Amino acid sequence: MKVARALQQLPIRARMATDSATLAAYSRDFARLTKRLPDAVASPQSVPDLIELITWAAREGIPIALRGSGHSQAGHTLLESGVVVDLRALNHVGEVDFDARLVEAEAGATWADVVERTLPAGLAPRVLTSEHATSIGGTLSVGGLGGTSFRYGAQVGNVAYLDVVTGKGELVRCSSSQNRELFDVVRAGLGQFGVIVRAGLLLRQVKPRVRTFMYAYDSADAFLEDLRQFLHADEGTHLLAHFTPITGSERAQLRLTVGIEHFRGAEPEYATPRNLQCSKTLPFVDTELFGEDHIFFFRYASWFGTSAEFVYPWVDHYFAWDRAREYLSPVLTGRFSPLFKMGVNTIIPIVGDADAAPLLTRSGSAEPMLLVGLFPKLPVALADLSEMVVSYAKRIEDEFGASRYLYGFLDTSRTAWPTVFRDHWSWMQEMKRRYDPFGIFNPELLRLASSTR
Ligand SMILES: Cc1cc2nc3c(=O)[nH]c(=O)nc-3n(C[C@H](O)[C@H](O)[C@H](O)COP(=O)(O)OP(=O)(O)OC[C@H]3O[C@@H](n4cnc5c(N)ncnc54)[C@H](O)[C@@H]3O)c2cc1C
Repeated sequence: MKVARALQQLPIRARMATDSATLAAYSRDFARLTKRLPDAVASPQSVPDLIELITWAAREGIPIALRGSGHSQAGHTLLESGVVVDLRALNHVGEVDFDARLVEAEAGATWADVVERTLPAGLAPRVLTSEHATSIGGTLSVGGLGGTSFRYGAQVGNVAYLDVVTGKGELVRCSSSQNRELFDVVRAGLGQFGVIVRAGLLLRQVKPRVRTFMYAYDSADAFLEDLRQFLHADEGTHLLAHFTPITGSERAQLRLTVGIEHFRGAEPEYATPRNLQCSKTLPFVDTELFGEDHIFFFRYASWFGTSAEFVYPWVDHYFAWDRAREYLSPVLTGRFSPLFKMGVNTIIPIVGDADAAPLLTRSGSAEPMLLVGLFPKLPVALADLSEMVVSYAKRIEDEFGASRYLYGFLDTSRTAWPTVFRDHWSWMQEMKRRYDPFGIFNPELLRLASSTR
C-alpha cells in the first residue's frame, strides 16, 4: 500500500507497470527457485528518468531491485515488497575508440550488443562469458568470467570507468583513479551500492577465425599439469574445460578445450605446448569468429536447453590450484560428489590478481586459480532437491577451502554473509551507509546496514 500511495507521487509513473502479468513476469529469475512478487516494475528510458526514480525511492523509503537480463539464480533481482527496476532500455553502445581500445556501453546493453559494435573494428571485450544475452550492468555486478580469464581475469577487472547513480540519486564517475571506493564497491557489488549506468569497457584485438583443439584426461594431475602450461599461451587463446557425468562403468574424463584465434591461411597446426600428457587428442574444429556466435565460445544455455519445466540451482566455486587437484581427483573416480551425475561441469582457469575488485569472493592471491561450475537441472517437481546443492556446496567450501561465485544459487535466507565477505564485511557496511543511506537497494538480498532506516 505504501508503494501504491508513493507511486502517485512519481513523475515517470507512466512507465511503471503494476498489472498482474508484468508483476508475475518479474517474480522469477533464471533458476526459477525463488518467487517474489513486486509491487511494481519500472523501466526508466534514460539516465535522468533513473535519477528521478532513485530520488523518489530514497525519499519515500521504497526498496528497489535492479535487473538487467535476470540471469541471476538466488533471487538477486527479485523482491516481495517494492519496485523492480528493469534497466534494459538503457542500452546505447557508443562508437569504438580504436586507439584507446575502448567502447562505452550503457548498463542495459547486452554483451552481444557490444560485440556487434566492436567486431567490425576487429576488437572485442577482453573477457566474454558463455552467455551473450546478459547485461553489462548485470555481469559487472557479479564478476564475469570466461575463456580468456586465464589472461585477463574477470570482466570487472577490465573496465576503465563506470558511471554510477548512487542511492542518493547522484550521478558519479568512478575508476581506479577517481572515486576509487565507489568503483571498488559497485564492481561485483550485487546491486547493493548504486546503479551502474555506463561502463567504459576495455577491448582486445581479435582475429577472425578460431581453431579449437580438445584433449581428454583420465587424471586430474595430468590435466592440471597441461593446463598450467597453457596459461602462458598467446593473446587470442581461449581456455575452458569440462567434465562429464559418470555413466554406467565408464570412467569420468576431463576435457580441455583450447581455442586459438587466427587469420585465414595462418591456421595453427597444434595448440602449443606439444608435450602434453593427455590420454587422447580429439580432432580439431575450425570456426568463424565473425558473423556467428563463436566469440562466445561455449554457450551453456544451448547445452542445457533451458525450459520452464526445470529449475537450475547452479553453483560455481573458486578453487586455489592445489585444492582443485584434491577435489578433482576423487570426483573423477566417483569417490566424491553425489551431484556429479546431475549435469555438465565446467572449469575456467583464472589469473590471480590480488588487486582486482575486492568483492569478488575469490582469494586475494596472485596465484592462478580455477572456477569450477556445477550445473544441475531438476524437474520442477523435484525443486526441493536444490537443498542438496546448497549442502554439497557447503561441503566443497569446508573440505577444499573453495569460495562461492555469488551470481549462482544461494540460500539467501541462511547465507552467512559476514563469513562470505570476510575482511570486507565491515567496509561494506560503511560503503552502504555512504552510498545507499536510505537502504533502498534490495534489502531482501543482503542484510547490510543503512544509517537512516
Ligand atoms: C545460461 C547462463 C550462462 C552463464 N555463463 C556465465 C559465464 O560463463 N561466466 C560468468 O561469469 N557468469 C555466467 N553466468 C552468470 C551471469 O553472468 C550472471 O548471472 C549475471 O549477473 C547475469 O547478468 P544479468 O544481466 O542477467 O544480471 P541480473 O540477473 O539481471 O542481475 C544480477 C545482479 O546484478 C544486479 N544488477 C543488474 N544490473 C545492475 C546495474 N546496472 N547496476 C547495479 N547492479 C545491477 C542485480 O540487482 C543482481 O544483483 C551465466 C548465467 C546463465 C544463466
